[in-house]
Amino acid sequence: MTSGSGAQYDTRGARARRIRSAAILLGLVGGFIAAVPAPAAADSVDCARVKCVALTFDDGPGPFTDRLLQTLRANNAEATFFLIGDKVAADPAAARRIVDAGMEIGNHTWSHPDLTAIPPQELPAQLSRATEVLERATGERPTLMRPPFGAVDDAVLAAAGSQGLAVVNWDVIPLDWENDTDIAATRAALTEQIRPNSVVLLHDTFASTVDLMAEFVPVLRANGYHLVTVSQMLGPRPPGSLYGTPP
Ligand SMILES: [Zn+2]
Repeated sequence: MTSGSGAQYDTRGARARRIRSAAILLGLVGGFIAAVPAPAAADSVDCARVKCVALTFDDGPGPFTDRLLQTLRANNAEATFFLIGDKVAADPAAARRIVDAGMEIGNHTWSHPDLTAIPPQELPAQLSRATEVLERATGERPTLMRPPFGAVDDAVLAAAGSQGLAVVNWDVIPLDWENDTDIAATRAALTEQIRPNSVVLLHDTFASTVDLMAEFVPVLRANGYHLVTVSQMLGPRPPGSLYGTPP
């Protein structure tokens, strides 16, 4: 290939880019955006017929949550956020933005103790205080609860059940907190373990996890996955029931 033909290719590429830019511009001013085929809205997805995955993000809201919301929205993706009550009390607007972005919220206790290790009389308030503050902040009353560390026993299930909460752990645990400095390891675990209808445990409290989602959510979409909330994927869960793997 001569340098001349190389220049020719470059010129064509630039021309094609200019035409694409012009088409996008026309679409914007001419109202053609609606004609662009949009991926199915997560609300209308039937996970019995198409590939779904439910990403869940624990321990927020935090400083990286809004960046994650941008990634999810840009990819027509929904997810479930298990929020810590005292963090919501400190920043209720952050919790409201999660709901306003179309995401599901769940209860991750008031202050993140191991519920199987605290004095039994403290267990109900760990759940009820978190539910109250989440509802006050967002207008949404959570129906799902994820116990810190996934730790459950009969007393936790009973307390959750009496407060209208179903317990949801996970199928896929890529250990993003351990891999905080090794995004490739988290990515490899996700790629290896995710199957249709997986519930995936992640944490939006790590910048590395939020960075990885900017790259990996489009990969899931390109592979035909619909990113939906836990409730969309699993349907209504009975209070006091347990989904997923205890650690
Ligand atoms: Zn947690």
